[in-house]
Amino acid sequence: MNRRNLIATSTTVLGSALAGGCASAGADKAISGGNAGSAPMPFVLPAITIPVVGSAEVFPVRRIYCIGRNYAAHAREMGSDPTREPPFFFQKPTDAIQYLAPGKMVDHPYPSLTKNYHYEIELVAALKSGGKNIAMADALSHVYGYAIGLDMTRRDLQRGMGEEKKPWEIGKSFDMSAPIGPIHRVRDVGHFTQGGITLSVNGTVKQKANLSFMIWSVAEQISQLSQAFELKAGDIIYSGTPENVGPVVRGDVMLGHIDGLPDISVKVV
Ligand code: MN
Repeated sequence: MNRRNLIATSTTVLGSALAGGCASAGADKAISGGNAGSAPMPFVLPAITIPVVGSAEVFPVRRIYCIGRNYAAHAREMGSDPTREPPFFFQKPTDAIQYLAPGKMVDHPYPSLTKNYHYEIELVAALKSGGKNIAMADALSHVYGYAIGLDMTRRDLQRGMGEEKKPWEIGKSFDMSAPIGPIHRVRDVGHFTQGGITLSVNGTVKQKANLSFMIWSVAEQISQLSQAFELKAGDIIYSGTPENVGPVVRGDVMLGHIDGLPDISVKVV
């Protein structure tokens, strides 16, 4: 991972140096300003990546977008009227990713501060390209693949902030709040416009719906998001959760399922 960063950095340096007609590091520093390519770093950040099924490659994550209230029944259970309020967006930090290896029960730490920790099972679309103002008809051509994700939520903190008209971050965008299985390429699994989506806790089905119940399809999500943000390769989109979200406590085992993808399994510890 670090090697990849170094290679990217070297390429940038070389490119700037060539463009400037000068190969000295000092000149490059002046050109690139605070975002220096050649300057040594006091530490190296790990790349955030998700394994890709059937490939030696890993998918590098640039941003995590989430769609809120994208299933009518869930919008209603959250206290809003889906006929009057359209879905909306929020983000999680990229390093909130927790990778869930298939065929394994992965330990997920119960987070601090909350007494009402909720699951939200979601289809996740991973983009290989992007743009601004993407037309619906072109939207799916930007999708590289799909995964099963959990939009884990400190519901009490989310609600508390909402009531005070403050940002949601503490309820939605904390460490490890974005568990996700591996990415399956479109060329292997196609696109997901319908199919069952379920979440079970300790063997009991809690959430059960169909992807076709989404208010905004994945194509609409990409189109809508691209009006607000320039989408780019590496962006992933959590597409919203169906109704019957609920709490887990330490010791609970969550099983996430979407028709056409292998299940994810998570133990809260
Ligand atoms: Mn969600």
